[in-house]
Amino acid sequence: MLATELISLQNLFSLRFALPVILLVSLWTWESVRPFCENSPGRGRHALRNITIAVVNAIVTGALFGASTVFVADWTVENSFGLLQFTDQHAIGRFFAGLILLDLWMYVWHRLNHHIPLLWRFHRMHHSDSRMDVTTATRFHIGEHMISAGLRLLLIPLLGVSIWQIVAYEMGVVAMTHFHHANISIGRADHVLRWLVVTPDMHKIHHSRWQPETDSNYAVVLSIWDRIACSFRMREDVTTIDFGLDEFENERWQTIGGMLKTPFANSADLSAPKAAEPEIVGEDRSV
Ligand SMILES: [Zn+2]
Ligand SMILES: [Zn+2]
Repeated sequence: MLATELISLQNLFSLRFALPVILLVSLWTWESVRPFCENSPGRGRHALRNITIAVVNAIVTGALFGASTVFVADWTVENSFGLLQFTDQHAIGRFFAGLILLDLWMYVWHRLNHHIPLLWRFHRMHHSDSRMDVTTATRFHIGEHMISAGLRLLLIPLLGVSIWQIVAYEMGVVAMTHFHHANISIGRADHVLRWLVVTPDMHKIHHSRWQPETDSNYAVVLSIWDRIACSFRMREDVTTIDFGLDEFENERWQTIGGMLKTPFANSADLSAPKAAEPEIVGEDRSV
């Protein structure tokens, strides 16, 4: 690898780590000035807990998987390995094809997290947040990150993606997840934008505690995967959504210790799920 390429890649890595900070500060400010749900007491404590989880996750996964991810991606490119070698030979076309394939994998991976009981044990920590805001974008169990990073080491040679594509896609994911978890509304623009990407209203549905809604809208960046796989769902009035999971209603699941214990909780530890279905006015799968 040339020194100039190395410097540029280092700059890209720096931007990759600066981006969540910039997004957290700007979207937190937007939420403070014009929130979608009224800000209630405890907002700062909630943010601090979610961000602490994120910092620990970044340090641990970076230490365990950072070097191996770069090594596997460089090996893949040097040996012309993977699916993308058989596609468009034009560099730009292949670059974007890689990003689209990585986004398709994220859709599949997210859906598996909801349908495989072991994976759901980890992923439910993200859904147990009963007050959704920009910091919810950073709230994932370290176990989920480790399984995801491990599988990615297999995915890189399978697809044939480079470290540039991985870092570029990660930056897209960071930008989009902070945006669509934020406690904001973009009004009518949401209707238009969600034909292309996952919007705040679309992802709010995914955080509903009503399971048919929890098990919908799995896409991370491009919304088309939900439309193709018939998992797209909306409701007319998103202000009526109740966020969180019934079983994790107790405040003890919102502490850092409680969050880390979430995958290991058994039915005896959990609150009973509410039986009643919420009354949904204006359910609409087409918009
Ligand atoms: Zn989910
Ligand atoms: Zn989410």
